[in-house]
Amino acid sequence: MQSALILRACDQAIFPDTGARKVSNFETQLKLENGRRSLDRLVDPLRDLAGVQCELLGGFPSGPQRYSLPRFTVRGPNSSDPIRIGIFAAIHGDEPAGALAAAAFLSQIVQSPEVIENFLVHLYPICNPTGFEDNTRHSRRGKDLNREFCKSSVEPEIEILEHELRTQHFHGIIQLHADDTSDGLYGFVRGHTLTENLLRPALAEAGKILPRNVNATIDGFAARDGIIYSGYEGILAAPMQSDPPFEIVFETPHHAPMDLQVQALVVAVRTILSEYRRLISFAANI
Ligand SMILES: [Zn+2]
Repeated sequence: MQSALILRACDQAIFPDTGARKVSNFETQLKLENGRRSLDRLVDPLRDLAGVQCELLGGFPSGPQRYSLPRFTVRGPNSSDPIRIGIFAAIHGDEPAGALAAAAFLSQIVQSPEVIENFLVHLYPICNPTGFEDNTRHSRRGKDLNREFCKSSVEPEIEILEHELRTQHFHGIIQLHADDTSDGLYGFVRGHTLTENLLRPALAEAGKILPRNVNATIDGFAARDGIIYSGYEGILAAPMQSDPPFEIVFETPHHAPMDLQVQALVVAVRTILSEYRRLISFAANI
């Protein structure tokens, strides 16, 4: 039943339509029970998807329970020497749109593998499992995990994610977030010089679903057409390397309807990947 539920929700994210049913599906997935949101309700149906490898990373205690970070791996067609992509969501536990979008994107690429032709995709839909359960930005240990990177943090989530960032050698990193102070979509770019050429079309496509934030200042940073070229210290980022990956943090307006945030994030991810494939194949043919 749960599998059918999430696939229905994902289908609706792919094929937008109207009606309360889709909203109630997301509400069902995110419903708090005994004050907590269910991790299993989101993760379990994804584990049954054909061609998807699921691994539960780590295993750290919080009170009487143990938690891990789920990682889903999917290989696209023609990917013997793949473009390696990491997609990270819900490192802020009160931003569930990213987790839902990661789930929806995973269902889409299972049904339409050509979307990730040449790619090897690692999806981390819930990077802050205790915060996701509690519906809090911080982890249950009171940490804003997206300020703990590159600081020799001993937070278990950070140790797991830093290990992934060190060992997976990503060509591209996409983080999914929601901002409750923004009325529109925007994003941060860093890393590879072509990164802004990926975010710009992603904002344009997602901008057909939700408005873009075109303010000159967003979240305290100078911005141009919804793109910020600087960022916070300590955010999830690739290790220093000579050939840096593209790194995009994509933000939806937190107060927008959940189904539209999910759709916008999925469209943004799809656009980033297709543009990257197009740009590097163009460069290879020069
Ligand atoms: Zn966030």
